[in-house]
Amino acid sequence: METIKQEQPGETTSSETSIKVEDNKEQSKPEIVKLPSFQCTICQLNEKYDYFGMNPPYIKHYLLLEDSYTIEDPFLPPKQGEFIILGANCIKCRKSVCKDQECSIYFDGTICIKCAKDCMSIFPTALQDKINKISK
Ligand SMILES: [Zn+2]
Ligand SMILES: [Zn+2]
Repeated sequence: METIKQEQPGETTSSETSIKVEDNKEQSKPEIVKLPSFQCTICQLNEKYDYFGMNPPYIKHYLLLEDSYTIEDPFLPPKQGEFIILGANCIKCRKSVCKDQECSIYFDGTICIKCAKDCMSIFPTALQDKINKISK
């Protein structure tokens, strides 16, 4: 790589030079930010997410109930405050699971269906029935 000198003869002030160097750096930044991806350990759903936590940047004055993988709604223009919760980490095994009702249930936190089946006794009967119907 050859260093391209931006300085023109005759330009003497150091402040001008430093501004030019910064411009150069901006241009070399990649335009597409690579998003990390979320994978459900139950159904293998794989989606890009842009935020993990309880306070997504696209919404204000509202906290999620737990750390969640979220992405700004790709079907709407940005900055509408609309977003999709892709999933969360199981409170038992800490693995990531999606919000599909066959993959996880919410009971004091997201619990993956595998852990749910391992600790059925902690759930109310109605919820046990629901879990029993899930064949995963
Ligand atoms: Zn899933
Ligand atoms: Zn689990």
